[in-house]
Amino acid sequence: MSHVSIRQLLKNFDGKPPTVAVDHLDLEIEDGEFLVLLGPSGCGKTTTLRCLAGLEQPASGSITLGDQLVFDGDRGVNLTPDKRFIGMVFQSYALWPHMTVRKNIAYPLKSRKLTDALNSGRVEETAALVDCERLLDRLPAELSGGQQQRVALARGLVSHPDLVLFDEPLSNLDARLRDQVRAELHDLHQRKPFTAVFVTHDQSEALALGTRMAIMRAGQIVQIGPPREVFEEPVDEYVAGFTGMSNRLPCEYVDGRWYALGAEIFGMQPPAGASVGSFVIRLRPEKVRLVADAADLRHGEAGIAVHVDDVEYGGLHLDVMCSVAVEDSARRQLHARIPTHDSSRAPRTVSRGAAMILAFDPIDGRTFDTDGRALAL
Ligand code: ATP
Repeated sequence: MSHVSIRQLLKNFDGKPPTVAVDHLDLEIEDGEFLVLLGPSGCGKTTTLRCLAGLEQPASGSITLGDQLVFDGDRGVNLTPDKRFIGMVFQSYALWPHMTVRKNIAYPLKSRKLTDALNSGRVEETAALVDCERLLDRLPAELSGGQQQRVALARGLVSHPDLVLFDEPLSNLDARLRDQVRAELHDLHQRKPFTAVFVTHDQSEALALGTRMAIMRAGQIVQIGPPREVFEEPVDEYVAGFTGMSNRLPCEYVDGRWYALGAEIFGMQPPAGASVGSFVIRLRPEKVRLVADAADLRHGEAGIAVHVDDVEYGGLHLDVMCSVAVEDSARRQLHARIPTHDSSRAPRTVSRGAAMILAFDPIDGRTFDTDGRALAL
């Protein structure tokens, strides 16, 4: 285990136009911390990981792993990957096809000449940790996807590296296996903490696994913190959108009435004192309701008239896509995820084409200024 320190890391790629993949990134990772990098495609997650591993050479900045300076642009330090004590687990399991599970797991010990570990049963011990001890004599082709990924995990951990890097290791698994391996990985880290950087673009993986999560945009970290903090208190609209607050209502107070997306919002309190009369509310689809009539709004709720564009059945919930009921509302979609049954277990029905009221309690949303920064209202 090791403390990791990244300072002002810059990595560009030549090309037309040139790309700044990692933009003066600062990041401190504590011993035993499981740090998740989350962000959309192209925001620089994998490049950050590859710079840590020594697979990309940054233009400037520095990286320290424990007490070892592995990269420093000013001092001309750049240790090759084999000189950095790092384990890696990739999206494609990248197991050696001609080697048994035992040999695959033992590979990092052999290549680093860790003979003591090899002879003291470390391979078997690590295989047991990921529940693979019965598979040791099989070839990768004789394993399921989930088993292969567990072997890859064992291979990443076996040498007790200073740092383990994960690049979307679960994304090739089907949904059920992904949940299972994710739970196993979480349990493993709880039992035997190791320092990790885990790259994903899956919000639920980041929330479940991260000691902290960092949201990236254009090569920089926009917000970093414990998953609950990032999820509940996004610093800006980008983070809010990325953590599931997909409904965006730009609200404006004009002549004593609130408007959003060209329609009136009723039931919302006037702005208090000198507070802002123009802002954006972000709402989770799970935090809005659909009611037939404005008279059905609960105390404190606000509502906006919508047209139901589509309804998808999702088992325990219905996904209802609506648009605000004004003429040019084509691209102003809002999403309501409502339980399939109400508390009396009566089935809920919503019809495509219906005119309804999208109801929400403003305190369930997050409010942002018109530049997208979080407001404390
Ligand atoms: P994804 O989730 O799609 O894997 P990412 O967040 O991991 O995306 P990176 O792969 O780090 O993003 O890429 C960051 C930026 O750098 C992108 O604009 C990408 O096009 C660019 N890039 C990455 N590798 C190279 C390369 N070898 N040559 C040129 N540009 C590259």
